[in-house]
Amino acid sequence: MRYDAVVVGAGPAGSSTATEIARAGFTVALLEKHSQPGLPLCCGEAVSKGALDRLMELKPELISCTIDRIKVVSPGGMEITVYHPGAGYILNRPRFDFELARQAVAAGAELMIETIGLHLSGETSFESLAIESRKEGPGKFEARLFIAADGVESKVARLAGIPNLVNAQETESLLQYRLKNIEVDPALAEFHLGRNVAPSSYLWIFPKLDSEANVGLGVSSRLTLRFPPEQLLLEFIRKRFPRGIIAGKACGLVPRYQGEKVFRLKNLLVAGDAARADDSLSGAGILYALLSGKHAGMAAVAFLRGDLSRVEDLDELYPKRFLDEKGEEMALYRRLRNIYDRLSDDDFDEIVAALSQFFADRDSVTGLKPGQILAGLIRTRPKLLKYVRHLW
Ligand SMILES: Cc1cc2nc3c(=O)[nH]c(=O)nc-3n(C[C@H](O)[C@H](O)[C@H](O)COP(=O)(O)OP(=O)(O)OC[C@H]3O[C@@H](n4cnc5c(N)ncnc54)[C@H](O)[C@@H]3O)c2cc1C
Repeated sequence: MRYDAVVVGAGPAGSSTATEIARAGFTVALLEKHSQPGLPLCCGEAVSKGALDRLMELKPELISCTIDRIKVVSPGGMEITVYHPGAGYILNRPRFDFELARQAVAAGAELMIETIGLHLSGETSFESLAIESRKEGPGKFEARLFIAADGVESKVARLAGIPNLVNAQETESLLQYRLKNIEVDPALAEFHLGRNVAPSSYLWIFPKLDSEANVGLGVSSRLTLRFPPEQLLLEFIRKRFPRGIIAGKACGLVPRYQGEKVFRLKNLLVAGDAARADDSLSGAGILYALLSGKHAGMAAVAFLRGDLSRVEDLDELYPKRFLDEKGEEMALYRRLRNIYDRLSDDDFDEIVAALSQFFADRDSVTGLKPGQILAGLIRTRPKLLKYVRHLW
C-alpha cells in the first residue's frame, strides 16, 4: 500500500491533517484503531465557543449546550458565578470527531478503522509504517510523509524517536462520569477547587442537558495513589447528586506542553496531544489538536508538492506557524500551571474572594483580558504577588 501521506489517529488532530492533505489532491490514509472515530468518549467535551467558531462552522447537532455562566467554588465553600456570554460549547464529542473524519473522507482521504499504526522504519527518512488491521491482519504502508496524531500515548511518535515520553510529574489523571437523572443548569459550567475535591487540579460539572452532565476531576498523576480519583469523585457525586445515575465513564491522561522538540523528526510530523499541544492549566486540548493538525496538514502539502528543498525546511511551516500562533499561549498556561501546583486551599479561598471583589461591580467578563483580571486580583489581594515570579 503506497500513499503520499499516512496519518495515524482519527481524532481532531489527525482528521484535520488528513483533510488538508486530501483537499490538495494527495493520497492519504487515515488510520484509526477503534471501530469509529470519536468512540469511546474520553473527554469533558468543553471548548471555547469563540475560538471554535473562528476555526470552523459547527452543525447544531454537534453541540449539546452553550455555556454563558461559569461558577467557581472554593475549598472553603465560597462561590462566584461570572456571566460570560458564549463562553463555551459542550460538544457532542463522538459526533464531532465523526464529522471531522467524514470531512476528511469527503475530501478524498481513505479512512481505515480498526487499523493500528505500529512502528516506522527507514534509513535516512521513514519509508514505511507497520500496521495491524483487524480485518486484514499485519501489513505495511509506504509513504513520503507520516503524521502521528495518535493521542496522548503516541507510541508511533515515541518509537520513531520523538522524545515525548511523559512522567508522572507531567500529567494529570482524569476521571469522568456521565450522570443522568440530575438537575443542572444547561448554560452553567462549574469548577470546584480544593484538596478534598481534586488535589492539585479541579472538578468540573459540564451540562449535557438539564438532566444530564459530565462530572469529572483531575488529580496530578503523582498523587493518584494517595488520592484515588474514583473515591474522590464518587464522594462528591453522593453529596451533590444523590439520585444521579452513572451512565458512562471516561478516563485518561492529559500531558503538559513540552515546547517545540516534539513536533517533527525527519519526515514524521506530530500533532495534537501526541505533540503535547495542550492547555497545561485546564487540560483542554481539542482546539490545539484542530489547529496543530491543520498546520501540519498545510506543511505536508507544501512538502508533497515539492515546494521545500529539504525535509528540514518543514520546520519553517510546521511547527513554526502553529507555534507562532499558539506557542506563547501554551507556554503561559504551562507557567500558570506551575503556579497552580503550588497553591494551597487557603490560596484558592483567597483567589475566589479576590475574584468576587473584582467582579462585584462588573456584569460579565466580556472584553476583559486575562492580564487585566490577574492585575485586578493582585490589586485586591497583594499577597498573591508572591506567585507571580513563577510566571518566568
Ligand atoms: C477525561 C478527559 C476529559 C477531557 N476533557 C476535555 C475538555 O473538556 N476539553 C478539551 O478541550 N479537552 C479535553 N480533554 C483533552 C482532549 O480530549 C484531547 O486534548 C484531544 O482529544 C486531543 O486530540 P488528538 O486528536 O490529539 O487526540 P485524540 O482525540 O486522543 O485522538 C487520537 C486518536 O488516535 C487513535 N489512535 C491512538 N493510537 C493509535 C494507533 N497506534 N493507530 C491508530 N489509531 C490510534 C485513537 O483511538 C484516537 O481516535 C480531556 C481529556 C480527558 C482524558
